[in-house]
Amino acid sequence: MKVVVIGNGMVGSRFVDDLVSRDASAQVTVLGKETHEPYNRVLLSSVVAGKTAPDALATLTTDSDRVRTLLGVSAVAVDRGAMTVTDSTGDVHHYDRLVFATGSQARIPGIQGIATDRGLLEGVSVLKDLDDATGIVAAIPKARRAVVLGAGVLGLEVATGLASRGLAVTLVHHADRLMERQLGSAASSIATGSLQRLGVTVVTETSVASARDSRGAVKSVTLTDGTEILTNLLVMCAGTIPETALARKAGLPCDRGIMVGEDLASPADPAVFAIGDCAQPPEGGSGLVAQGWDQAKRLVAAWTADAVAESRVDAVVESADTAELDVTNVVRVKASGLDVVTMGLSGKFEHGERELRAVRMADPAIGRFVEVVVSHGLLVGATIVGDKQCATELGSMYTRMLPVPSDPAHLIIRPLANATRPAAVAVEDMGPDHTICQCNAVPKGRIEEAVADGCSSVEDVARATRAGTGCGDCRSLVGDIIRRCGTADAADQKVPALAGSAPVGTVEG
Ligand SMILES: Cc1cc2nc3c(=O)[nH]c(=O)nc-3n(C[C@H](O)[C@H](O)[C@H](O)COP(=O)(O)OP(=O)(O)OC[C@H]3O[C@@H](n4cnc5c(N)ncnc54)[C@H](O)[C@@H]3O)c2cc1C
Repeated sequence: MKVVVIGNGMVGSRFVDDLVSRDASAQVTVLGKETHEPYNRVLLSSVVAGKTAPDALATLTTDSDRVRTLLGVSAVAVDRGAMTVTDSTGDVHHYDRLVFATGSQARIPGIQGIATDRGLLEGVSVLKDLDDATGIVAAIPKARRAVVLGAGVLGLEVATGLASRGLAVTLVHHADRLMERQLGSAASSIATGSLQRLGVTVVTETSVASARDSRGAVKSVTLTDGTEILTNLLVMCAGTIPETALARKAGLPCDRGIMVGEDLASPADPAVFAIGDCAQPPEGGSGLVAQGWDQAKRLVAAWTADAVAESRVDAVVESADTAELDVTNVVRVKASGLDVVTMGLSGKFEHGERELRAVRMADPAIGRFVEVVVSHGLLVGATIVGDKQCATELGSMYTRMLPVPSDPAHLIIRPLANATRPAAVAVEDMGPDHTICQCNAVPKGRIEEAVADGCSSVEDVARATRAGTGCGDCRSLVGDIIRRCGTADAADQKVPALAGSAPVGTVEG
């Protein structure tokens, strides 16, 4: 079977890796517009913040003579009648099955003065790929000020990252509050206070109308209300648009993304599929990597007639009252000095017919806000600003769908009261089905198996199970599980668990 995959990003590369390891007949050609080997795009804001080196982003590449990957080569035309793809060098690739994994592109707002003959004005950027990140990093030493446009998750991450590098940052947002899809006014105003303490000035209900340059580099921006802000950098974090241009040209039905059915095939062509950010499945695209990786896994399973029921649908509670309780719906800002986590119902949500009970605690003086939403004995939503420990506790309760105390206030008071306790969520209390890595849907039991098979470090477990290879948020929990397994083994073998610098979880005896 000849397969052509268009796009060598996080989902396309994962799909190819899964496919060739499961299907011995697959001959795959991958066309990747970027010149880089696949990398972890999710951590690009961490590169901007100086917390992760660009070369640490590399993900595992498929080592198989059945895969031909062309880096820096775009697909430019698809002939569905002839079943061929033409690439940017003029080569033509025949396919039996074609997979679009073209991702999304950053939305560039209409700002006067940012476009030049050679692309964007110097100092003006989006943050979508590794070249964008290294370009921003290269500009930082010469910059004193930055404007970040858009206060969604990415905008907050970029603004705090640039502020941590010593720049005076102004965060400009069109809505009346930060992360308006996730946060209500009270939570937003507390997060705004935290940002100000980090050196970020927040300006809402306005946008950037125009930019002025000095010798070809941005020197100031003017907001829609007429305010002028001097700046050396303008980073636009104004959302993404699924990359559908080639699919549209090929006559495939597209809406926001490339339309596909449950089987991830185009309704117009059973030989053409779409996965990842470019796809629009019946439930809608989330723009999150977990959805794309799940689609990659499902498509390989379908093609290899593998009956593993590994769909994320399992993770959704199916009951009349909690039908919207999708435990994967957790939004986390990856920024140092600013903890914002939302899960399920948050911000301004509709109550509808549901019986919901919301309790909140706000303490602007120390930048803390916690709101929990409870329905029929379950936590169905939470917003936490400025309290990592509480976010961890509530996150665990939410994703494990544990029954909540009859008085929801205890959900807030208990974690806060125990805030000094180092590991409030005991890994030993988690069952084997408890999902540890949300990005890769890896349960605790799978990690324990990997440790039993000899994995003794977080990196080993990542290689064996992929846990921790997405946003990386679960890596400390993976470490806890390894340590716990090591301790359990040690107890069984009556050998004391190791302390000190040995790899976590190893037992010497
Ligand atoms: C800074 C940043 C932070 C993020 N943070 C998170 C997060 O915390 N959690 C989360 O879940 N998600 C996050 N995301 C989103 C996540 O990165 C995406 O969901 C994920 O990368 C989607 O993978 P994909 O393969 O569909 O698309 P991509 O990874 O974007 O890859 C698509 C690839 O296709 C290539 N391509 C496009 N057109 C063509 C063509 N015609 N020919 C050849 N190649 C082509 C592109 O150049 C690109 O390399 C973040 C994204 C960014 C940019």
